[in-house]
Amino acid sequence: MCGIFGVTNNSDASRLCYLGLFALQHRGQESAGIVSLNEGALQVEKGRGLVSEVFSEKNFSALQGKQAIGHVRYSTAGGALDANIQPLYARVAGETIALAHNGNIVNADSLRQTLEQSGAIFQGTADTEILLHLLARSRKNQFVDRLVDALIPLEGAVTLVVLTKTEMHAYVDPCGYRPLVIGKLRGEGEEFSWIFASETSALDLVGADFVRDVNPGELVSVDLVSQRLRSTALPMQSHQSNTGEESRCVFEHIYFARPDSTLWGQNASLVRQELGQELARCHPAPADLVIAIPDSGTPLAMGYSQASGIPFATGLIRNHYVGRTFIEPTQTVRNFRVRLKLNPVKEIVRGKRLVVVDDSIVRGTTSRKIIELLREAGAAQVHMRIGSPPVKFPCFYGIDTPKRKELIAQKMSLVEMCDALHADSLGFLPQEALVRVVEKHGFNGTRNQGKKGFCMSCFDGTYQDSGAQILGNPEGVPT
Ligand code: AMP
Repeated sequence: MCGIFGVTNNSDASRLCYLGLFALQHRGQESAGIVSLNEGALQVEKGRGLVSEVFSEKNFSALQGKQAIGHVRYSTAGGALDANIQPLYARVAGETIALAHNGNIVNADSLRQTLEQSGAIFQGTADTEILLHLLARSRKNQFVDRLVDALIPLEGAVTLVVLTKTEMHAYVDPCGYRPLVIGKLRGEGEEFSWIFASETSALDLVGADFVRDVNPGELVSVDLVSQRLRSTALPMQSHQSNTGEESRCVFEHIYFARPDSTLWGQNASLVRQELGQELARCHPAPADLVIAIPDSGTPLAMGYSQASGIPFATGLIRNHYVGRTFIEPTQTVRNFRVRLKLNPVKEIVRGKRLVVVDDSIVRGTTSRKIIELLREAGAAQVHMRIGSPPVKFPCFYGIDTPKRKELIAQKMSLVEMCDALHADSLGFLPQEALVRVVEKHGFNGTRNQGKKGFCMSCFDGTYQDSGAQILGNPEGVPT
C-alpha cells in the first residue's frame, strides 16, 4: 500500500508535497520521495524511512520548481530495495518523466518476463518499473497516447500520478481499486494549483478544496501552462475485469484510510460507525462496557455502543511513539509489538464483562494478545467483535494480507478461532451487512451507478482478473 500526491503551479510545490505525504504517512512507512520539475529538469530527493526521517530543510533547496509529485511506500510488490523507492523516473522517447504508483499490478510477473525476454533491463523488483518499459515501447508520438498504450495491458490496482515537462497526469484503473482525489488550492487573485492525493485528509492539511474523485478508468491531465484539466476515459478491458464491474477496495473503508478522509463520497469514520452499529445488531453481547482496539477499532466500537446502549469506555491506551524502527516483522516480535503498543486501563476493565471491537482479524496475533492482556488486567469476560467478515483469502491489490496459510480464518472454524483467541464469544460482521453499509450511499460520478462497486476478494476469494485468480490459486490454474 502506498500514498501518492501531486501539486501543480505553486512555488511551494515540494513543501506542499511534503505536507501531503505527512497526511498520507499511514499508507506507507518504508520510504518516501518527492520529484519536482524545475526549468524543464526533474529534481529528485528520496530515501528509506518516514517522511520526517527522509526530508529536512536542506532537501528543499534541491527540490525547486512549481510542480511536484510525491510518494510514501509500504512494499507489497517487490522488496525494500533502494531502486524501488518512488517516485520512479526515466527518460522515455527523449523526455524525462516521473511517476508515483499506489496499488499492485497483478500480472506483473508475466509482463516482466515478456519484457526481459525481449531485452529489457530492470533496475529494481517493483511492479511499477514495468510501466516505464511499456511507456518506452509505445510507438505513439504524444506522451498521453503512450501512457494509454502502457496502461491497457495492466491488470489489478493502478493508481498513478505522472509528471512530464508539460503535463501532470492522474489515473485510476477501470476497476477503481484505490482512491485518488482532485483538489484545488487557491492562491493570489486568479492563481490556483491542482492537487492530487490518495486521500482527502491530505487536501485538508494543505488547505485545498475537494473537487472530485478521479473516476475508475479516468486519466486526468493538467496542462502545466494553462492549468486546463482534460479527462480521457479508458474502457474496461476484458483482462482487467471478468465481470466488467468496478471494484473499490472495501478494506480502505474498514481499516486503511484515515477516519477523517472521505472515500468515494463517504466519510470513513462515519462508515465505520455504521459498521459498528450493524455489528451490534448482528452480534449482541451480554456486557458492561464496549472498548475499542485503538485506533482503527474506535469508530466501530462507538457505533457498537450507540446501537447496543452499552457504554463506551477507553479501556486500552495506545502508545503513539512506538514507531517501526527496530521491530522486525517476525512472528516472535509481532507478539511483543502488541504489548509495546497497547496497554489496558486496569481500573476501567477490572471485573467488567467487555465487548472488545476491532476492525479485522488477519493472523489472529493482535486479538489473542489483547484478550490475554485484558484478562491479566482483571476483565471478567471478553466478547470479541470484528467490524468485517473473516479474512480468508490473500489480497493481491496492495493490502498486505499474507499468504492463505497464515490467515487464521482460513485454517479454523468460528468456534476454533474463538477457542484459539481465548474469547468468551466471537462475532464477525456478515458480508451482506458490510455491503449494505458501504453501498448505501452510491458513488460520486461513477459509470456503473447501482452496480456492485466493491472488491471483497479478501473475504470471498472472488478476484476480478485472471492475473489475481492465478496468484490466488496455489496450483496456478484459474478457478
Ligand atoms: P492480526 O494480528 O494479523 O490478526 O492483524 C489484525 C490487526 O492488524 C487488526 O488490529 C488490524 O487493525 C490490523 N490490520 C489489518 N490489516 C492490516 C494491514 N494490511 N496492515 C497492517 N495492519 C493491518
